[in-house]
Amino acid sequence: LTSFCFLFFDSYHFSDRDPLPISVIAAFLRLGDKYGIDQLRSEAVSRLTSVFSTTLEERDRNWERKSSIITDIEYTRSLFTAVNLGRECNLPSVLPAAMHACSSVQAKYILRGVHFGDGTRCIMSPADQEACITGRLILLERQGTKTLKWLDPKESYAGCYQPQACDRERQGVFQGFWYPLPKFMPLVRWNDKKVSFCKFCSKKSSDLHNAGRQGIWDELPSIYGLPEWEELRKQQ
Ligand SMILES: [Zn+2]
Repeated sequence: LTSFCFLFFDSYHFSDRDPLPISVIAAFLRLGDKYGIDQLRSEAVSRLTSVFSTTLEERDRNWERKSSIITDIEYTRSLFTAVNLGRECNLPSVLPAAMHACSSVQAKYILRGVHFGDGTRCIMSPADQEACITGRLILLERQGTKTLKWLDPKESYAGCYQPQACDRERQGVFQGFWYPLPKFMPLVRWNDKKVSFCKFCSKKSSDLHNAGRQGIWDELPSIYGLPEWEELRKQQ
């Protein structure tokens, strides 16, 4: 079987980083572990750790690229699979980003699992289901006090050039984000085009936003009961 794996591996041309589905990456990782084929394992690890990165900068770069080296990353089953691989294959550094992605999934899918194309069920362990659901609630609170702190009515905008217009804009954005249910966006990137503030408010708001989302990122592992980032990077 080992030689079969090598044939399988050679049939892909990894150097150009063709996108692959997560099922193939999972097979690489599991076969690589089972038969001690480092080349297979490291290819899988490099893809997973790049997509589920340990730094906010790399996450943002992935976002800007718009396409992923994991073809079906937008599917819920891929997110659950990434968490399960992180657990099974001793790859804990992917867990904070993968679990954060799972926290954006509706609780009913987290609890029931979802189906693969072949009808089998993809579900996380009960402990990870609980961590992703409770993590969502913690992150919704943090997004209010950190990433979206610039929407806090108590925040001062004393240097504002057009107080009435900026207040109106802030109230509108606030309502859009929180009503009737809060949108899950703890790590959303600041986008100047989405808000029309004066220069002063725009600068102050984006500064608060960027510092806030970095703060949430730093805290992400502990929200999911995982070791600190530094520890996780060492295990990569
Ligand atoms: Zn203003």
